[in-house]
Amino acid sequence: MSTLVRHDWTRTEISQLMNQPFNDLMFQAQTVHRQSFDPNQVQVSILCSIKTGACPEDCAYCPQSARYDTGLKKERLMQLEKVLEEARDAKAKGATRFCMGAAWRSPKKKDMPHVSAMVREVKAMGLETCMTLGMLSENQASELADAGLDYYNHNLDTSPEYYGDIITTRTYGDRLETLDHVRSAGMKVCSGGILGMGEKQDDRIGLILNLANLPGHPESVPINMLIRIKGTPMENMDDVDPLEFVRAIAVARIVMPKSYVRLSAGREQMSDELQAMAFMAGANSIFLGDKLLTAANPGEGKDARLFERLGINAETFEVDESNGHSDEQVEESLLSAVNDAKTDKFFYDATK
Ligand code: SF4
Repeated sequence: MSTLVRHDWTRTEISQLMNQPFNDLMFQAQTVHRQSFDPNQVQVSILCSIKTGACPEDCAYCPQSARYDTGLKKERLMQLEKVLEEARDAKAKGATRFCMGAAWRSPKKKDMPHVSAMVREVKAMGLETCMTLGMLSENQASELADAGLDYYNHNLDTSPEYYGDIITTRTYGDRLETLDHVRSAGMKVCSGGILGMGEKQDDRIGLILNLANLPGHPESVPINMLIRIKGTPMENMDDVDPLEFVRAIAVARIVMPKSYVRLSAGREQMSDELQAMAFMAGANSIFLGDKLLTAANPGEGKDARLFERLGINAETFEVDESNGHSDEQVEESLLSAVNDAKTDKFFYDATK
């Protein structure tokens, strides 16, 4: 298998990859994975909800939509000090990237100075920064890029064909436009989707096809398994076939060979064996911490035990010379991350 980065994948090619015998698919995915990544290393991010609930959008899977009664406690935009506290905690746990999510359709003008300050201050701690704030205009994307934001997350969620069954308040085209603004502003793109929303395999193929044929592959591709939340229209969805889930990860790995594929939401309901298979299929990033925005996630102790059983190491810092830190700051961050790992801050309760 070649790791040539292509943007001209056809539906037939992706369908053939997806439907070949499982062992052949896994072998190809693992072969591609090993050409660009250390197969025993997983990047670790921590996600923090900086503004919770009361979202005007109608994403059918989301407990934060104001349209569904999920009993979620709404919270205003978090104060900077509190965000920094959470970021410090994330770094101490071994995260290299701090992701901040706000339940907005798009940020308002008055919000921009606050979120920009968060980016600047979190970056000054030596963490990579990521935000997900909804749709962005060209100017907002530039503002965030100027503040130093490394990644912007905006998922395609599913195929264009199935999209209208999931969200009606923004279009697939709106999403692509935001991704375009993010890329044009010079930030890295984090974009993926959710499986288990009642979509067909064809929709999973359509999602991967659209991600792989973006003008630039997202540097980070989160593949989520639906977390069924009571009160949302998706609360009674059937389980997605775990092997179909792994197939989707493997195909994403093959067609986006240089991207980090994140085994994202839904790990709480996955067995260790399923997660191990997802790593084998080429997933090499996770969210750490017992909360994913508002949903449950395995605690870091559980992940540390899993990593230990699988011989997986948490990736330490990538040195990004362009992130505005002095060499000393970068070196200090690196040393601190490496030492954190060595002094078992991440693996601290691996024996419990
Ligand atoms: S835009 Fe985001 S926060 Fe709002 S309902 Fe959709 S997924 Fe939830």
